[in-house]
Amino acid sequence: MTALIDNKSPLVLYTDDDMASVLMAEAALVAAGYEFIVANSGEEAVQMFAQLQPDLVIMDAIMPGIDGFEAIRRIRAMPTGLHTPILMATGLDDLESITAAYDEGATDFLTKPVNFHLLPHRLSYMLRAHAAAHELRRSQESLRNAQRIARIGSWEINHKNSSVELSDICRKLLCLPADEGLVPLKDAFRHVIEPSVKEIQSKYLQSIEDGAPFNAVFTVMCPQECREFKLRVEAEAVLSEDDSTNVIGTLQDITEISNAQQQIHTLAYYDVVTGLPNRAFLYEKLSYALALSQRVNQKFALLFLDLDHFKQVNDTLGHDMGDVLLQQVSTRLNDTVREHDTVTRARSGDYESKTAVESHTVARLGGDEFVVLITNIATERDAAIVARRIGAVIAEPFDLAAATVNITTTIGISLYPDDGSTSETLLKHSDIALYHAKENGRNGFQFYSREIHEASIARFSMEKKLKTAIDEELLDLVYQPKIDLHTGAVVGVEALVRWYDTECGNISPVEFIPLAEETGLILPLGRWVMLEACLQMKKWVSEGLAFESVAINCSTVQFVRSDMSQLVAEVLEESGIPAELLEIELTESLLLQDTEQGIQILNDLKGRGVQVSIDDFGTGFSSLSYLKKLPVDKLKIDHSFVRDLVHDSGDQAITSAIITLSHKLDLVVVAEGVENFEQCQLLAQMGCDQMQGFLVSEPLTAAELEGWLRKPLSLESLRKAS
Ligand code: C2E
Ligand code: CA
Ligand code: CA
Repeated sequence: MTALIDNKSPLVLYTDDDMASVLMAEAALVAAGYEFIVANSGEEAVQMFAQLQPDLVIMDAIMPGIDGFEAIRRIRAMPTGLHTPILMATGLDDLESITAAYDEGATDFLTKPVNFHLLPHRLSYMLRAHAAAHELRRSQESLRNAQRIARIGSWEINHKNSSVELSDICRKLLCLPADEGLVPLKDAFRHVIEPSVKEIQSKYLQSIEDGAPFNAVFTVMCPQECREFKLRVEAEAVLSEDDSTNVIGTLQDITEISNAQQQIHTLAYYDVVTGLPNRAFLYEKLSYALALSQRVNQKFALLFLDLDHFKQVNDTLGHDMGDVLLQQVSTRLNDTVREHDTVTRARSGDYESKTAVESHTVARLGGDEFVVLITNIATERDAAIVARRIGAVIAEPFDLAAATVNITTTIGISLYPDDGSTSETLLKHSDIALYHAKENGRNGFQFYSREIHEASIARFSMEKKLKTAIDEELLDLVYQPKIDLHTGAVVGVEALVRWYDTECGNISPVEFIPLAEETGLILPLGRWVMLEACLQMKKWVSEGLAFESVAINCSTVQFVRSDMSQLVAEVLEESGIPAELLEIELTESLLLQDTEQGIQILNDLKGRGVQVSIDDFGTGFSSLSYLKKLPVDKLKIDHSFVRDLVHDSGDQAITSAIITLSHKLDLVVVAEGVENFEQCQLLAQMGCDQMQGFLVSEPLTAAELEGWLRKPLSLESLRKAS
């Protein structure tokens, strides 16, 4: 660091064996504000330099001992002596000495006799130049460091001789040997694999022509490391000293940034589980397909598909296996539609066209929902062929490590331009078609149509009406009595929901309960039913109308999606009835969905004292042995077994077996849908405990039930009535 920069007096080391000149110099320099130290010989000068680090040295050439030239050489050899300005004092016209002084590293020379009057000024200029040089060195150094850290190199193309001057880092980035300084243009980019040298050349020529800066990304294949780098070039044309135009620029290693960008792109546009394009990417592909199909007047098809009962796989084999299944499904989908492409291409003889090669997209929207886009179809039939083929390949067994799984898929199809001209419409319409295909019993496909659309609108309006009916408490409950098959005593009632709509009249729960389940409206609906039934029960209890319990139906969706224990606790609290008076009817499907969680909730309900029965028993998949595990009190034999009981020996066998086994498990058995006395008698013989059905009574309003209860009822009267 020089003294001028520090704002201190500069320290001058004056070396001369002539005392007279020393004294003159001292007088002049001290007066001008310099600090002055003296060495009388070359050796002394070297020693004092090392110790005192002067800012400037004046060195006499000829001295006893080592001369000034040797002293300069030794000072320059020290790390701290590299840049310190040194003035060599030589005899006038001693050209040889002057040359020798420069050779040894002197900064400048003084002729003897020295003009001491001018000396301070001379030194001050010299120190200022030194400070500037120092500053330049420092900024060059920090620029070099910054470039090294950022892996940025600089280069300059000399247009005249078609060569490039490359910085160290540039050479490294371009995988060139370190010693290549000025490199012929064609050699400098010899490891660049993209773009071609020709392209690079034309870019830089363009830049020279219009003087505009340009940038580009190069891919370099490094032969030493056997891997690719991505380099970013920024360049602009400049006028060089000789008035010709050169191009200068930087080169930066952006491999990591580019990899990160690639990763972000992958995350944003691809599904993590299957590696398929995701919804966002599908939308991009769709808008591309729309633009293209519009231009060339082509049809395309959108197949919206989901896997039937996929949830069951997830629930029974776990989510990891579910993911494996999704991956295998996506592979099969891709293979199938690729096959279609090959066929179409062969048909059209179009082997080269890029659009033909990439005419399909398989995307995953989430869950078990996939979309297949097939762009070059001639007719609706093409889409049907693909849909059928997809159906067939998905139906083939899947080999998952844990098990072999059989699933099917349901597909909804919309066509451009017939069914819509925007991505949203086409997707929505294929979804509507899928919904209908499912309604019609899954494992098939369905084209979108006007009728389907109307049905979906009707469904939507029904959903809105149902919501209003729930919100404004326009629903009603009716109650169907249950009696003891042996004594005829009323043991309880089952609450059944009713909906009377002013426009549509009575709407059956068979119609609106599934809708409520799909739309989530079952949650508020189920809550209302439970509370209403309990409040009614409270009223009956206070009026002294004695029966054991009121049963309410609880849908599987409600059970899975809401906190049942919490709901029951709230309703019991709000209505103020003892838990024993409430019975909850659940279907078997619930327990199939998530056995562990189901059992836990059942245990909780039973812990509170609530009774639990299994509704529609026999229609699901559960085996009798599996009943053992379930904490339930009652089992209701589905009315489909009761209907033909009298004449169908198969139904008799099943019903009898259910009753026997249930009793072994301490379960009370209720027969549903008993319509005539023969059924009643047969059930009594089989040992069935309770029954419910039109034979006893249809579901009644609360007021009707109260009247009904006042009339005495016996099995004899039932026999007579039928
Ligand atoms: P479910 O629980 O099996 O109810 C018995 C159904 O059989 C009732 O139909 C009832 O009216 C009818 N039924 C009663 N006795 C006889 C008979 O002797 N013969 C025949 N053929 N049918 C008889 P409903 O009220 O139309 O209810 C149909 C289904 O809707 C119910 O079947 C139940 O699954 C569901 N449901 C009704 N109310 C509710 C409710 O509040 N919540 C929920 N989640 N589901 C409900
Ligand atoms: Ca029921
Ligand atoms: Ca039932």
